[in-house]
Amino acid sequence: MISGGPAAMQLGRVRASLLDFYITESDELIVEAVSGSSLREEHVEILVDWARTVGYERIWLPDQVVDIEADPAIVGVAKVNCRTCGARWEDSSTDFWLKVRDNGFFPASCPACGDSLPEMTVEAEQARLTH
Ligand SMILES: [Zn+2]
Repeated sequence: MISGGPAAMQLGRVRASLLDFYITESDELIVEAVSGSSLREEHVEILVDWARTVGYERIWLPDQVVDIEADPAIVGVAKVNCRTCGARWEDSSTDFWLKVRDNGFFPASCPACGDSLPEMTVEAEQARLTH
């Protein structure tokens, strides 16, 4: 990490948490703060909501374990714009959500250009996944 100079002063104003995620064999999510970072309290709810959306039922945070009530009915339209090629992607199909929940994350790369995608945003709608 940057420890001195103007860059360090700018970094000190960043209100982000740098985290590593690990998925266990039992499909639980382990979250570790990257050295020099910490999980900010205001990010816990966002992280737990994301974990529920992509299908985790337990998340191990640095200072607590959260059991997430599974709710397969909460899905919606997931959207993202590729910052590299400008393509807009959205999907709300059952197949899409089943794949997201099987993987434990949203698609990471753009199907058009292959570059990495920002995290998808979800506009909630009530729908039913059929297993
Ligand atoms: Zn792209």
